[in-house]
Amino acid sequence: MSRFIYADNAATTQLDKDAFEAMLPWLRDEYGNASQPYTFARKPKKVLADARELIAQCIGAHPEEIYFTSGGTESDNWAIKGTALARSHEGALITSAFEHHAVMHSAEAIEMLLYPVAYMWPDKNGVIQPETLENYISDETQMVSVMMANNELGTIQPVKALCQIAHVHGALFHTDAVQAVGHIAVNVEDLGVDMLSASAHKFNGPRGVGFLYIRKGTRINPYVNGGSQEHGLRAGTENTAGIIGMAVALKKNCDVMEATTEYVLGLTKRFINALDASGLQYVQNGVEPLLPGLLSLSFAGADGEAILHRMDLMGIAISTGSACDRVNTKISHVLQAIRLDESLAKGTIRISLGKDSTNEDVDALVSALKKIIK
Ligand code: PLP
Repeated sequence: MSRFIYADNAATTQLDKDAFEAMLPWLRDEYGNASQPYTFARKPKKVLADARELIAQCIGAHPEEIYFTSGGTESDNWAIKGTALARSHEGALITSAFEHHAVMHSAEAIEMLLYPVAYMWPDKNGVIQPETLENYISDETQMVSVMMANNELGTIQPVKALCQIAHVHGALFHTDAVQAVGHIAVNVEDLGVDMLSASAHKFNGPRGVGFLYIRKGTRINPYVNGGSQEHGLRAGTENTAGIIGMAVALKKNCDVMEATTEYVLGLTKRFINALDASGLQYVQNGVEPLLPGLLSLSFAGADGEAILHRMDLMGIAISTGSACDRVNTKISHVLQAIRLDESLAKGTIRISLGKDSTNEDVDALVSALKKIIK
């Protein structure tokens, strides 16, 4: 088999070496529980505070507004369910029809408890236009939740404008920024959001750890009940090593973000030029601004899943849609939401290049597609 090519960075990323090294002492030797009052717990307590501070700096927040969680899924569940539970009056949630399932299924769960939810449709380019929110919102709306960047299309949403509309109507604004944090500039002050979800493994941190940013003063109930960790709002002994790995990875990605973006955009350009030259007919879904390196491509009449498996046999990892949806051969809810023609939707693949992708990877990807589709 030829060398392994990883082109599924939107599903997960490789753990950064420095993040890995930084985690090691906390996995074995420094096993103190940060909640304990004795000396052995001082170091973990301090290192958790430092990690909180570092993460806060990376997104323009205050350290006490960062709450550690087990990842993007938990952060999304908490934002949606915790806000619905904290309602002081009959509220309603407005979200979009192409959110990640962590938001979609949380919204469905509160709907089952008779909490009203409305799902906005993106336009055909994969963008929730501010006018759409204007048409949906009312003074009953308690929260609006729209993702920052769509995980299948890469389209970046006008979060700042959407957030302003929510605030005019007295509603909170949450954004699932799992695909965005560590890849594009994210500043919660500038965006104005009240809550923001992030996940370490999407930015070269470890899997199973993330955070929820909650603006000071936001009313939200705990989602994980138990001890008094995370200011009494998210119980459970902290994943010290994971949190440290997350902070180191995020800081590193943010420090070199401009250079990485330029590099990945160069790879993307090379890929598109080679694909155009190959004579293959395709459509690229979504419009700029897009996440660097994420390409949603549709080949009319082809079978996306078959392409994925043929690529797999060649030692290449890509995706047909959301990674969490891999077993599902149905057209994804995202492609349905942008009303993509069925023949194109069935032939859709997602390629997501990252900082470790190379020119050789790009050339091999295009030549594999040529072989498979022709
Ligand atoms: N939200 C988005 C947009 C995602 O892409 C993902 C993962 O694919 C998640 C949430 C879930 O994050 P995690 O894997 O950390 O639970």
